[in-house]
Amino acid sequence: MIRKLIFSAPALIILLAGCSSTKHSLVGLYYDPPGSTITTDKAITPQYKRIITIGETGVSASNEFAGARLNDFYRENDSTYTAVFQPENAPVNNSAWYSFKIWSDKAQTVWVKLKYKDGTHRYYPKISRGGKSWTRLDSSLYINDTSTGSALLKLRLNKDTVWISGQELMTSEDYKQWINKLLIKSFAKKNIIGRTALGKPVNELEISEAGGSPDYIIITGRQHPPEVTGAVALQAFVETIAGDSETAKEFRKKFRAYVVPLMNPDGVDAGNWRHNIHGVDLNRDWYYFNQPETRAVKDEMMRLKNSSAGKLKWFIDFHSTQKDVFYISKKDSAGGNNITDEKRQMHDKAYSLLREWFANIGNDFPGYYVNVDESLNNPNSPTSDAWTYNQFDCPALTYEMGDEDDRQQIKEIASGAALELMKLLLKEN
Ligand SMILES: [Zn+2]
Repeated sequence: MIRKLIFSAPALIILLAGCSSTKHSLVGLYYDPPGSTITTDKAITPQYKRIITIGETGVSASNEFAGARLNDFYRENDSTYTAVFQPENAPVNNSAWYSFKIWSDKAQTVWVKLKYKDGTHRYYPKISRGGKSWTRLDSSLYINDTSTGSALLKLRLNKDTVWISGQELMTSEDYKQWINKLLIKSFAKKNIIGRTALGKPVNELEISEAGGSPDYIIITGRQHPPEVTGAVALQAFVETIAGDSETAKEFRKKFRAYVVPLMNPDGVDAGNWRHNIHGVDLNRDWYYFNQPETRAVKDEMMRLKNSSAGKLKWFIDFHSTQKDVFYISKKDSAGGNNITDEKRQMHDKAYSLLREWFANIGNDFPGYYVNVDESLNNPNSPTSDAWTYNQFDCPALTYEMGDEDDRQQIKEIASGAALELMKLLLKEN
């Protein structure tokens, strides 16, 4: 893989750091657009919520729901329409999210072109009639035009609303219901650890049957709004920890799990491509913590570190990308030569535990390739895993699922990975 490191303007960093005496060169990831490690508030382009009706044909499109993204809709000619999507602000990674409703006064077949500003078509279209259960649009009704970065969909419309979306919708309301289902269990508890820019709660689930302050793990997710497959994995993972297996019962008696499943509810509900409502990539804010969502999680992690006799044993941040990949730090990457022998030993231990866990997952799923990548993480990247690794010296990883993975397989792997993690930590205990 070609690695290109992008350094932020040092002058600006010194300014942001309030003239701190130590100069820290933050390093973005090779695919980041310019400026992503600058995490002070940025201007965003508002998405106007509305229903657009094409009078002469009776076709309507709407973005009036949580998670929607549709910036314009117009008739091209005859039965062809164009739906336009643009990100909350740019430059932005190409996570070209779209989600809209469409219907027609009279039954007719139409072509809808998906056109993007500041991005190109990425997500295979998902369709729902009712907004709850989703399927992939039949491939005979979908043309992905890579030469123009757009897509063409053939839709049979009538009065009944059809949802078209880059991924199935998983908004803050869906998380609320998921959390409430888990709260039925006597050992699960919800904490509000902060508020987003728009005042929404940043919810944390606490799962444990251990008294006092046991060792613990931390799980986070959905810093990036369109990354639904990572969310599917997180939910299966957490449900396994809260499940009925003997391993889970034993684990809960000795450990505690803290889970922040939805770090960016504002961005998710706004149908953002990547950022929070301040136009910032939250997973590049794990150094300055300029944004309320990252600050809430960091404050909670520091509170646990300083108030608990127990130690953080494992950190996982769930994401999605084009393929399955587990990003970890290289064995000797953190801190260069400046770290103490004790810290070095803890990092060596963290590395071998991660490798043991991946090997065990591989043994459980012989047909599944456990794709571990050590090349991406950099100790100077302001990402959740790098920050946690440097702060807590424990295994810290980014767990990425492919955009178009089979959802059932995601759940099976995540559930198996959770079981293996619990076994590993119990063995180490
Ligand atoms: Zn992500």
